[in-house]
Amino acid sequence: MSFEDIPVDIGVVYEGERVRGKDMFVELGGPKMEKKFEVALAREMNEIEDEKVTIIGPDLKDMEPGSYSPFGIFIEVAGKEIEPDLEGVIERRVHEYVNFVEGMMHLNQRYDIWIRLSKKSFEKGFNSLEYLGKVLIRLFKSEMNIIEKIQVTFITDPEEIDSRYDDILSRYNERDARARGLSDAEVDTFYGCSLCQSFAPTHVCTITPQRYANCGAISWFDGRAAARVDPKGPLYAIPKGETIDEYRGEFSGVNQAYTEKSLGKVNSVALYSAFERPHTSCGCFEAIAFVIPEVDGLGVVHRDFKGDTVNGLPFSSMADSTAGGRQIPGFHGLSIEYMRSPKFLQVDGGWDRIVWLPESIKERVYEFMPEEIRDNIPTETEVMSIDDLKTYLKQKDHPVVQRWVELEDETDITPTEGDYVPVPGEMTAMIGGVGGGIEIIFKNAKIYAEKVIIRRMGKGEKKK
Ligand code: SF4
Repeated sequence: MSFEDIPVDIGVVYEGERVRGKDMFVELGGPKMEKKFEVALAREMNEIEDEKVTIIGPDLKDMEPGSYSPFGIFIEVAGKEIEPDLEGVIERRVHEYVNFVEGMMHLNQRYDIWIRLSKKSFEKGFNSLEYLGKVLIRLFKSEMNIIEKIQVTFITDPEEIDSRYDDILSRYNERDARARGLSDAEVDTFYGCSLCQSFAPTHVCTITPQRYANCGAISWFDGRAAARVDPKGPLYAIPKGETIDEYRGEFSGVNQAYTEKSLGKVNSVALYSAFERPHTSCGCFEAIAFVIPEVDGLGVVHRDFKGDTVNGLPFSSMADSTAGGRQIPGFHGLSIEYMRSPKFLQVDGGWDRIVWLPESIKERVYEFMPEEIRDNIPTETEVMSIDDLKTYLKQKDHPVVQRWVELEDETDITPTEGDYVPVPGEMTAMIGGVGGGIEIIFKNAKIYAEKVIIRRMGKGEKKK
């Protein structure tokens, strides 16, 4: 495959490259644009003009340096083995391939895409989306040989984006709804995805019917279709193996896949918990569940939420504490679709443990929330401080309030002389918490303690 006619380098070496605001020539999509999307569609062979690139709206060379543009990417593909189940997987490869372009950064997925082109690459001559189209077409055809015909359309015209937007959102919804009829117990195979390991080397997504991929772009059906056509690709089958704990979502096959794919860094995962050996988080998650220790509950915030959340921190600060392919108890990357699942954080209390979320997420998942809790979980329109949150939860008699009572009764743990806390294998301690901090790993450690003190982190409150 040759890229000699492309004015910048193309290669896996550029994956993970960041383009900072001061270095960018233009930003396409991203948080400043309300509507943006990328979508792949399966077509009939006769519906596609092979290798055609279309640009609707201003091209890169027509844009002002340092400007922002709305953006849409349409990838249409055809081939004997192409089926609608593959759309999500083909679409997700756009993230990988755009990041192969020197000086281009692609973040997120679907209706959340955020792309930057660097000034350097623009100055080298990468001044048209035509080049990006050629790169995508060549990479798709060489990496996915089931694609026999492909055409790519880029849209920067705001009216054109507007006119297609609702239809595209409903396509995403249809895909998501399809996986809702199936339960994790009914299948003997889950699917793994390692596409994000270039950003987070120990991260593995385990995609089950009831735990959608963190990025919200790949369902169990998508995983199955991708593993079938390309079993050695980044999406692969994970036989469930022995069910170690059905309630926690712990399976020997999943543990084994983690051990292999994370090179031994992650060995055990409880799929339905944000606290106890949680599923790892790369950086592409749609939302974060974050612990609010003052109320012993979890808040949820999504990528598009502007400004600070109820704990005074914005999404970006908590994303730093969550990402990187680690298992951080209490900071958990997830998709919005997972919030519609009956398995949603069930080990931690599910919806009974959620104490705050943005209005726009609430609207999207409202009908999937248990009726009795819907009006007891505040959003930014009702509560924006921890003190107000406590008052609100008490007034509403939110189920989490019961946990405060239980905690009062169980925090005195005093080992007798000679007792010790054995640590089997490895223990990780986080120091610093939100916004950074350090991680200390004790291997094969035994810790002796005369007394264990558990302290609440809220001001003025402590128990011994
Ligand atoms: S978030 Fe997970 S499923 Fe989505 S691309 Fe990354 S590894 Fe794959």
